[in-house]
Amino acid sequence: MPDRSLSPTTPHDSAACLLCVAVSTPAHSGVGEPLSYASPRPLPPGTLVRVPLGAREVLGVVWDAPAEPAALPPGMVPRTVAGVLEGVAPLDAAWRRLVSFAARYYQRAVGEVALAALPPQLRDLTPEQLARRLRRPAPPAHPSEAVAKTIALTAEQASATAQIDTERGPFLLFGSTGSGKTEVYLHCVQRALAGHPAAQALVMVPEINLTPQLEARFRERFAPLYGEAAVVSMHSGMTPAQRLKSWLAAHTGAARIVLGTRMAVFASLPGLALVVVDEEHDASYKQQEGARYSARDLALWRGREQGAKVILGSATPSLESWHASTPASEGGPGRYLRLHMPSRIGSGDGAGTGELPRVRLVDMGQQPRSSGAGGVFSPPLLAAITERVQRGEQCLVLLNRRGFAPVLHCHDCSWKSDCPHCSAHQVFHKSDRTLRCHHCGFTQRVPRACPSCGNPDILPLGRGTEQLEEQLAALLRNVITPDRRAARVARIDADTTRAKGALEEQLAQVHSGEVDVLVGTQMVAKGHDFRRITLVAAVQPDGALFSSDFRAPERMFALLMQAAGRAGRDARYVAAQGSPPEMWIQTWHPDHAVYAALRRHDYPAFAARQLAERQEAGMPPFAYQALVRADARTQEAAQAFLQAASDAARAAGLPGLDQVFLFPPVPLAIQRVANVERAQMLLESPQRGALQRFLAAWQPLLHAERPRHRGLVRWLVDVDPQAI
Ligand code: ADP
Ligand code: ZN
Ligand code: ZN
Repeated sequence: MPDRSLSPTTPHDSAACLLCVAVSTPAHSGVGEPLSYASPRPLPPGTLVRVPLGAREVLGVVWDAPAEPAALPPGMVPRTVAGVLEGVAPLDAAWRRLVSFAARYYQRAVGEVALAALPPQLRDLTPEQLARRLRRPAPPAHPSEAVAKTIALTAEQASATAQIDTERGPFLLFGSTGSGKTEVYLHCVQRALAGHPAAQALVMVPEINLTPQLEARFRERFAPLYGEAAVVSMHSGMTPAQRLKSWLAAHTGAARIVLGTRMAVFASLPGLALVVVDEEHDASYKQQEGARYSARDLALWRGREQGAKVILGSATPSLESWHASTPASEGGPGRYLRLHMPSRIGSGDGAGTGELPRVRLVDMGQQPRSSGAGGVFSPPLLAAITERVQRGEQCLVLLNRRGFAPVLHCHDCSWKSDCPHCSAHQVFHKSDRTLRCHHCGFTQRVPRACPSCGNPDILPLGRGTEQLEEQLAALLRNVITPDRRAARVARIDADTTRAKGALEEQLAQVHSGEVDVLVGTQMVAKGHDFRRITLVAAVQPDGALFSSDFRAPERMFALLMQAAGRAGRDARYVAAQGSPPEMWIQTWHPDHAVYAALRRHDYPAFAARQLAERQEAGMPPFAYQALVRADARTQEAAQAFLQAASDAARAAGLPGLDQVFLFPPVPLAIQRVANVERAQMLLESPQRGALQRFLAAWQPLLHAERPRHRGLVRWLVDVDPQAI
């Protein structure tokens, strides 16, 4: 593929300087390094420029010249930089190092990573528009400590913040849900910003829908000190204009605090002094397309490079972080400093309030086979929900499956609502009478009769949140709340929150008390500070116990602990009501070790057991993994590409190969999506460095292999994959 920054026609200007410029080249062009351009004057690395690329003009970043510049092909001269984004200071060396590292580590092109990290609108602005955007908002006239709200820290919070103050970190803040972790973040951010007039803090959360609540808390605390403009958000739900505004504020230093999702890890923050990764275990810190980076891991790398302290926080840390924070005195690597906050705010006041919810397991094997119209609800759970609602308290019912039923089924001929394009069922959505594939989006009207045998009696099989909502509303039909209204059931999941602002509106109804029982997916289990929920129930969580993914138990434990953390968050409310919070779990396997640990809120016991199993099996965090995935017209073609790449690596005797184990290619669990067959190959090594050396050397062979495989649609590398 020709380097399209070169031109055979432009006359060579002997006065011109030669620059390296990172531009976004197409993913499979095989061009991994910045391209060469001519410029009439020297430009420092980090300068934002507009350059010609093929027939287009694109945004680029002047990059550091390599030690040995690549020789230009004979007869070719570089094309000339088209313009400079005047007024925007060059991106600093720390940012460029972060991008270079991420590109290298995750096996992508520098330009792709760099340009994906910049707000797209930067490219489209005229110099006048840019100048207008760059006008700095005036800082508050009299920033004053006096107006800032402060809270007296608990002993556990004080001890954690003291250690963060004096030690280098990185820190793993292992604090129960409701132990006041956010308050610790606020305190540490305040200390960091007070330390230097240009200091900045980056605070990351896993989900967009958690940012508004967090932003409100940070704004309340810091706007009086540093002005409204000092706190900005960064996430994919923002408009291009908002993203640009936040980005410029961070880049110019006008923003002192950036709150965001994983993408915020790439924000330009010249004064970065502190990074917080809240709910660090959450899988959504891993990007799932393009450069498949882990924002948590990059945050740790960035903090070390830029001399910023890093705090990872969780009630259920990832096993990677838990292991890394196991002290040397306990035989661990002790790379992170673990700070423990076991108590909930408000506990220990003698009233038995502020405690973590009691976990109640319902043995479904002991329940009547068909609980009448209840179906999924066991009689004791239904009674407990009824009782709470009658006392005016709220309940949260979780099921991690949206839609009405995961499949429609014909009893006569055993037809099932399979997606014609995927190896998956189409989900039955009752509200609009559709069958929808959750993998490719293919949607059809529900047929009147079985398409295969004409039987008019096709039935839903299994349950989703939509059905749960309907059933629960029927079951609670005659239940009256203390203010004499009928019980109200509401549902929050990806289907009810598609419209902009819908989630906020629905959450507001829960907060205001209009809703008595909230049915939802994991979306509502995480992070939200519900004040009047006293009972949380997981009605069918067993599936994850038998998943083929070795991380499934870890994820399930985290989700159920998080969900439990939504109950009884307001100690005073719980005390006034006199009803201790509860977490109900309906299970066919009440003796399972995961549930036993959950019952005691004993994450350390759960983690110790899991880590022992992982060590025994040589799995992360005791080994490092990468996946190579191939998508093709046929499964054979996908696997053939992977096999050939594997053979080529062996034939070439690539470095690191002696320490990297290449597993044979296998189909993905959901083998076909949107008529594309998918296969993957796992690579494993006890040495991170060996795996990295191998992958770097392998990349050109993968590119070379590609054209030999007809029917191959794409391939990609996923380093430190989250799901196997
Ligand atoms: P976490 O982030 O660990 O779930 P939060 O920081 O949200 O916990 O704290 C839970 C609740 O306790 C919040 O309502 C918070 O305002 C309150 N809180 C936190 N720290 C204190 C404190 N030191 N004194 C009084 N209330 C506190
Ligand atoms: Zn049929
Ligand atoms: Zn499909």
